[in-house]
Amino acid sequence: MSVNYAAGLSPYADKGVCGLPEVFDSPEELKAKVETLAQLVKESQYLVVHSGAGISTSTGIPDFRGPKGVWTLEEKGESPHFDITFEEARPSLTHMALLGLQRAGVLKYLISQNVDGLHVRSGFPRDVLSELHGNMFVEECEKCGRQYVREKVIGVMGLKPTGRHCDVLRSRGLRACRGKLISTILDWEEALPDSDLNRAEDASRRADLALTLGTSLQIKPSGDLPLLTKRKGGKLAIVNLQPTKHDKHAHLRIHSYVDDVMKQLMELLGLDIPKWEGPTVCESSKATAESTTDVKPPRAVTAKKKVKRELVKEERKGDTAALMDDESVKEEAVPVKRERADSPVELKEEK
Ligand SMILES: [Zn+2]
Repeated sequence: MSVNYAAGLSPYADKGVCGLPEVFDSPEELKAKVETLAQLVKESQYLVVHSGAGISTSTGIPDFRGPKGVWTLEEKGESPHFDITFEEARPSLTHMALLGLQRAGVLKYLISQNVDGLHVRSGFPRDVLSELHGNMFVEECEKCGRQYVREKVIGVMGLKPTGRHCDVLRSRGLRACRGKLISTILDWEEALPDSDLNRAEDASRRADLALTLGTSLQIKPSGDLPLLTKRKGGKLAIVNLQPTKHDKHAHLRIHSYVDDVMKQLMELLGLDIPKWEGPTVCESSKATAESTTDVKPPRAVTAKKKVKRELVKEERKGDTAALMDDESVKEEAVPVKRERADSPVELKEEK
């Protein structure tokens, strides 16, 4: 079953700057820039990657604000074209390269705005991944916070009940939790998942290199997280075909297809890109990366911060200047209180 993500969301008038022209570096420029990127990656101690819809377009899933993006077409009264269903989509070279970087101990944390589930299905460890806008394949118990990664899309959006119930055993195994399972996909007005957001903020502060791939960085708070890295003295590298909200803060801007950039980068780093062998879910990075020392607080229901997704306000559609002219690097937000909870995350296969 194919679920049209965009059609499942509530109407929301302002979709931000859509359909800006794409810019392409010449092959020579690209080569030189990727060499610079490779150097930045080698020098970094804590690399965090931020991914957006642009890394999935090569898999057949449309982006939002590109020339054929969902919102770009919507402005013209046209419908987006899905070549494939979410279940059929195969992780791109970029998804697999990120897994290779993580396994090599180079990539410490991955923050994604994508809901297509491709990072999880590529086998990227979920304890070093924040999916800030949800995942089409994941449903969550609203009572105990247990998440279930399914093989098929959940088919419900906007944190609504999926009709299934939690089967975690409670009371020393005497009874099941039976909490309602809900979709993890955020609608426009819904708060971001606290634990994913907290972990993303912590990683962004800790990072000395933030690399953004295929995102116009227009959605808050996700798009502003790379600025936390910059504010702490780290560097920012942006790979995107269109201009982004934070181009002026970047040490390096690469205008090319992310797959081309990642292929060249992996070659320069002397790292292999793992082959994809079908959907794989990996909960923990402990078995794969010896350099990952972070302990992730379990995902659980804790006090809600209610951070909502929003577009950066002052911009007007199609206005590049407005997109670029931002007041961003503000004072750092109030430190996030981290609460620990006792519900471990386990992968449960769909029955
Ligand atoms: Zn539960």
